[in-house]
Order: sequence, then C-alpha cells, then structure tokens
Amino acid sequence: MALDLTSNALPTARTVADLRDQVRKWRAAGDRIALVPTMGALHVGHMSLIEEAKKHADKIIVSIFVNPTQFAPHEDFDAYPRAELDDSQLVADHGGHMIYAPTAAEMYPDGFSTSINITGVTRGLCGDSRPHFFGGVAIVVSKLLLQALPDIAIFGEKDFQQLQVIKRMVTDLDIPVEVIGAPLIRDEDGLATSSRNKYLTAEDRTQGLALHRALSNVADLVKQGKTATEALAASEAILKDAGINEWDYFEVRDASDLDLIEGVVTRPARAFIAAQVGKARLIDNWAIDPA
Ligand code: AMP
Repeated sequence: MALDLTSNALPTARTVADLRDQVRKWRAAGDRIALVPTMGALHVGHMSLIEEAKKHADKIIVSIFVNPTQFAPHEDFDAYPRAELDDSQLVADHGGHMIYAPTAAEMYPDGFSTSINITGVTRGLCGDSRPHFFGGVAIVVSKLLLQALPDIAIFGEKDFQQLQVIKRMVTDLDIPVEVIGAPLIRDEDGLATSSRNKYLTAEDRTQGLALHRALSNVADLVKQGKTATEALAASEAILKDAGINEWDYFEVRDASDLDLIEGVVTRPARAFIAAQVGKARLIDNWAIDPA
C-alpha cells in the first residue's frame, strides 16, 4: 500500500507502515513532527489544535479514527458523525500535512488482547459516568503515539480530564512524546465546540448554553469567596431554568490532580459539567481562580 492520494485533499495514510514511511522521510529531512489525534467531524476546536501544533513542529499529522473501544454498547458509535473528505479539506486549509485514518482492523487486528488501566486521575467525572471510556482512550492514544512517534502531540482542554489522563500515561509509560494542552474553544454563543453539537436542534442548543453559564457562575461565586459547594448549589438554578434537571456531574476539582474540592478554593481549580442535552451528551469546563 502507498499513501492514498486519490480522494482527500491531503495524502492519507491508512496503515501503520505508510504512516511510518512518511514520518521516516520527514525525520530524515530534519523536520519536527506533531500529531493531532481526533475522531473527525472536525470543527474550529480541532483547528485550534493545528494552530498550536504549528508553533512547535514543521509537519502536522491529523489522525481521524472513531475509536470503538471508547464507546459503550449503548452509546453513539454508529451515529457518530463521519466526514473524512470535508475533514481533509479543513486540515489542508489550516496548514496540516497528512491525514492518518486507519481502519478498525488496522488498529485492532484479530487477537488484540491488551488493555491499559490508569488509576488516580481517571476517578470521578467521565471516569465514573463512562467506566469504559478511559481504557479505550488510553489504548488508542498510546497506539497512535507509538505508531507515529511524533515529537509532540496536542490535546484540547475541552476534554480536560482526558488531557490529564494522557499526560499521566505518557509519563508512566515513558512514551517519548511531549504532550501539549490547548485551550477550550467556544462558538460565539459560548457553547463549547464539539462534533456532537451536530446532534443538537436549535432548541437543544439554546438549552445547552446553560452549561457554560452555570460554570462561569460557579467561577464568579468562588471568586467572591463562596465555597465550591455553595457556588455549585446556587448555580444549579441556571441549569434548571433551562430545563436541565439531571447531569452526570457538576463539580469543582483541583486543576492538576482533579481532587474534588468542596470548601473554599485556595488553589487553581476547574468547574466541570456533563449533561445530556437532546441527543448529545455535552461536557464543558471552566477555569477557576482561587478566592
Ligand atoms: P474529538 O475529535 O472530539 O475526540 O477531539 C479530538 C481533540 O480535539 C481532543 O484533544 C479534544 O480535546 C480536542 N477538542 C475537541 N473540541 C475542542 C474544543 N472545543 N476546544 C479545544 N479542543 C477541542
């Protein structure tokens, strides 16, 4: 097999061998290489990762792989938006150099039997509400990093817990890649951009705006000296007024070890939320300065 040059706007590697072949050539030319792992259906949030990658590397690979092992059977693996042609064009327009879009069989050949279990930062938040999730993320990200062996890999703070989990794993497993976090990107109305926003109706979207409003309200109240528990309790009204009566979590945690904070916030922290809005499970988070 060679790089797929036919349909996509960028050369597309579909096998580990083709990916490595291209990476080897770039390395021989002295290029620094960045990997931006994604599940496709790309949007401005992903493009911001490419912009970040440009600051650190000469060549940028965007991987597109909807990873089956991070979805539970009842979740949206089949429905997850797939748009490789558009994705490739977007990446080309933003200065990326190659797409890596392996098949599921390339990533998980028959007999695949390995799992990675990360403790600590996987406890709580999405680790509780999606118990399968970080195991799937760990295996796919470690494989992508070892397949490409880039100098750097960029991940968004939109998935803040995931970023901490990946940093932990890369350190623990001595994977020779520098992990860089990039800020969360929002649409003009404040909704965090997400591939899953495609599931939202106009009404859902209006409802979804309550998420970031509730989070920023928590940050404001904490800054005024309220405890985390008080700030969260007072901000629930914003969710309920929008018709959101249930959530997977709405919490304040330490920004580095993700320990739960209930009292006065005296160290850098984040407010986190996950809630089902229409057909989409939305997640968002907000930086909190100590009181
Ligand atoms: P996904 O395709 O949703 O799995 O995301 C791929 C990468 O893009 C992850 O590192 C995400 O954190 C990042 N990402 C997705 N949405 C955003 C956003 N709104 N802002 C910043 N990064 C994002």
